[in-house]
Amino acid sequence: MRFIDEYRDPAAARAYARALARIVTRPWTLMEVCGGQTHAIVKFGIDELLPPEITLVHGPGCPVCVTPLELIEKAIRIASIPNVIFCSFGDMLRVPGNSKDLLSVKAAGGAIRIVYSPLDCLKIARENPEREVVFFAVGFETTAPANAMAVIQARRLGLKNFSLLVSHVLVPPAIETILSSPSNRVQAFLAAGHVCAVMGYEEYVPIARKYRVPIVVTGFEPLDILQGVYMSVEQLEQGRAEVENQYARCVHKEGNSAAKDLIRDVFRVVPRKWRGVGEIAQSGLGVREEYIDFDAEMRFAVSDFAVEESPECVSGQILQGIKKPHECPAFGTLCTPEHPLGATMVSSEGACAAYYRYRRTSVRASNMVPSGAETHGSRE
Ligand code: SF4
Repeated sequence: MRFIDEYRDPAAARAYARALARIVTRPWTLMEVCGGQTHAIVKFGIDELLPPEITLVHGPGCPVCVTPLELIEKAIRIASIPNVIFCSFGDMLRVPGNSKDLLSVKAAGGAIRIVYSPLDCLKIARENPEREVVFFAVGFETTAPANAMAVIQARRLGLKNFSLLVSHVLVPPAIETILSSPSNRVQAFLAAGHVCAVMGYEEYVPIARKYRVPIVVTGFEPLDILQGVYMSVEQLEQGRAEVENQYARCVHKEGNSAAKDLIRDVFRVVPRKWRGVGEIAQSGLGVREEYIDFDAEMRFAVSDFAVEESPECVSGQILQGIKKPHECPAFGTLCTPEHPLGATMVSSEGACAAYYRYRRTSVRASNMVPSGAETHGSRE
C-alpha cells in the first residue's frame, strides 16, 4: 500500500539498526512522546531491534491517559443529568473514574453517544433542541482545531444547547516537566509528528537549548521511528542538542496557521492537571471568555470534589518514563483491558494496553504474568 509499505520495509529497518550500532558508543535513553509511536514501537518490535545501548521509554502523549480523574468524574456527573446527551470518542467510555465509568452510566440508561467528530454533535444538538448536548473535548493540540471549529459553527448556527467539557493538554510544557524532574533519565525526545503538523516546532527550540537535549520531530511508521532514533543518537554522540525534523513530508516549521488561528480564537492557555503527573503550569487549553457560554464546566457548575487514584496504579511513573508497564505489579493480573485500574490500560494509545496486547508472551516469560492469564483472550 502506497505511503505505508515503504515505511515498513524490513530490510531498510535492519539497515537502520546496523547503522545505529555503528555510531552508538555508550548508553542513551530516549523518550517517544506520543502513544501512537509507543504502539508502533511495541507492535513492530522496534525497541528489540535497537542496539542494547539504546533504551526507549514511553511518554505522556496519550490524551485519554492523562485526562485527570476529576474531569472523568465531572463527565460522569454531567452525563448522568437526565436532560443531557453526552458525546465522546469511544476510548473515554471505559476510563475508570472513582466509582464507575461512562460506559456504566450508559448501561444505566444515560444518553451517551460515541461520535467521530465534534461536528457530529452539532447535528445532534439541532435535532434535539430541548436537550443539552455536551462534547468531551479531550486531546492534544491535534484535536483542538476541530473542537474550536465546532464552537465557532455552533455560534454561527445560533445553537444554545451545545457545550464542550474541555480537557486539552499541550506537549511542550509536559516535556519541560519531565526534563525538570530530579528523577528524569530522558536524554532525547522523539516529538509527536501530528502535534507538530498543527503547531510547527519552533516552541521546541528554546527547550532543546535550555536543557541541552535533542528533539526530533518524528512520524509513526517503523522507519520513521528508526530514523528519528538514528537522528537523536547521532546528535547525542556528536554532543549536539537541536530540533530536527524527521517527518518533513507532513510537518513544516511554522505548522498549520489556519488551525493555530482557530485554536487561538476559541481557547486560551491555562494550567492543567495531568492524571498521574499533577498540575503543570500553562499546559492546557480552556475556553476563552468570549465563548464561555460553550463551556460545559460553567454551564453545569459541577463543583470540585475529592478523588482517589487506585493505589496499585503507577501510570504516572510510566507516563514520565520512570517505569515501564511490565514493572507495575498489577500488570496483567489485577489490571487488564477488561478490568483496567488505570487509563494507560484502557486507551488504544496507552503504554500498558500496548504491552498487554503485544508483549504478554515475553512478559510472561519474565514471570510478570501468571500462566493462567492467557485465558483472558488475546486481542491480536
Ligand atoms: S498496568 Fe494497570 S495498574 Fe499498572 S500502571 Fe498500567 S494501568 Fe496502572
